[in-house]
Amino acid sequence: MKDVTELPWDSRQMLIAGHWRDASETLPLEDPSTGRVVGEIARGSAADIDAAVDAARAARQGVWGKATALERGRVLLRASALVLEQVEALARMEALDVGKPLSQARNDAIALARYLEFYGGAADKLHGQTIPYQEGYTVYTLRQPHGVTGHIVPWNYPMQIIGRSVGAALATGNACVLKPAEEACLTALAFARIMQQAGLPDGALNVVPGLGEEAGAALSGHPGINHVSFTGSGPVGGLVQQAAGRHAVPVTLELGGKSPQIVFEDADLAAALPFLVGAGIQNAGQTCSASSRILVHHAMVDRVSEAMAARYAALKTGPAMSDLDVGPLISARQKHIVGGYLEQAGTLEVLARAEIVAEAPDTGHYIAPTLLRGTDPDHVLAREEIFGPVQLILPFADEDEAVAIANGTGFGLVASVWSENGARQMRLAQQIEAGQVFVNNYGAGGGVELPFGGVGKSGHGREKGFEALYGFTALKTVAVKHG
Ligand code: NAD
Repeated sequence: MKDVTELPWDSRQMLIAGHWRDASETLPLEDPSTGRVVGEIARGSAADIDAAVDAARAARQGVWGKATALERGRVLLRASALVLEQVEALARMEALDVGKPLSQARNDAIALARYLEFYGGAADKLHGQTIPYQEGYTVYTLRQPHGVTGHIVPWNYPMQIIGRSVGAALATGNACVLKPAEEACLTALAFARIMQQAGLPDGALNVVPGLGEEAGAALSGHPGINHVSFTGSGPVGGLVQQAAGRHAVPVTLELGGKSPQIVFEDADLAAALPFLVGAGIQNAGQTCSASSRILVHHAMVDRVSEAMAARYAALKTGPAMSDLDVGPLISARQKHIVGGYLEQAGTLEVLARAEIVAEAPDTGHYIAPTLLRGTDPDHVLAREEIFGPVQLILPFADEDEAVAIANGTGFGLVASVWSENGARQMRLAQQIEAGQVFVNNYGAGGGVELPFGGVGKSGHGREKGFEALYGFTALKTVAVKHG
């Protein structure tokens, strides 16, 4: 696919109450690999969000609200099968829209199918408890949907994030209003079409693309929604929480990170190496769980530096459709932000700068993956989320210092420990402040089943796994006094 004119549907439309509608205004759709505008998307307004919330409320009162858990699960399972049939088309759409290399986009489409499969299968397995209480009582809990859930999604992994949040929300019987990112919403629209084909009743999923400060703000502050799932940056997460808080609406915040991998002197370096680099450069480092800090025991730091630099030397950066190791950044703005951080590198040593291939258009948003080494854990590049293909190696002297550096940024999303020492693995898993800690791996290959989320500046609430089903339901306690 060269541009969106090849799509079999109109990228400018939004889905409200089961109907594809034009928005009164549009936004340009850019291909990050070329910097070229290749189409338009809807610029949904506050009025469109009102209509979408109304449609979702009506769906809750109608067929969708009355569907059994089994019926809801079957819709998701049918959608999962349809996604698998369309992996290539979805991957090409995402590669065009986000700029991610085709095989990484393909993995996202497969992950979307897997989320739908997992939540489709789980829908009828979620249940409450009975609670032993006083004589003459029967007490039990019900897990009920919040009602209408709002989903505000970023541009970096649209398919995966939609799968994990909308998938879980629908499985538990909520009706959803999805506001995808203005930088990348094509696969959100394709997903909505797939859900329709799978038999999702009208209004159970509404999709309103648009600007964050318009459609996003209207959704997060809407009095008609009952829960907001927000994935994005910390500052915007704060705004969303504030807006939802005005109506006491609960919010899940999946924010950013500065995730460390900690390499001890007894680590299996050959096993670690692909993860040390891969977790930093995947999706050009535009990953919430990107491992941007590599903390290395001082006895290993030269070896790790050399080995990572050698890997960087082999990396190729270029257009998404060329399917190289790294694609462009999402936008000129993101390139400017990452470039700004690199200008502040100061005394940090540049160990490697990877190649941008000659065929990468000058107008694309490319930045050479950069490996840095320093000693100061308080350096701005060691503390702030860069959201680009930049990794920093920092040495530590002992376990206590490793933990202090790991916990020293205020973020707490993901971390990993590379060591053969079992007692140390256990200690660090307890001491590191993060939503996920991996031992001798990083990311567990995506792990749809594994609860995910942050502590501190990385947010709160959990998505993925069964935990998300709890998050998208409200627990009701029923106490029956029968004597
Ligand atoms: P962003 O916060 O700018 O945008 C995210 C979404 O919020 C977009 O849909 C945007 O339109 C919307 N938005 C913007 N302003 C809004 C407002 N005032 N009210 C309501 N919605 C608004 O983030 P981004 O630049 O798109 O994404 C990058 C950030 O997302 C990074 O910090 C990254 O770490 C984080 N992220 C986190 C996870 C996770 O699971 N923890 C996953 C992916 C990305």
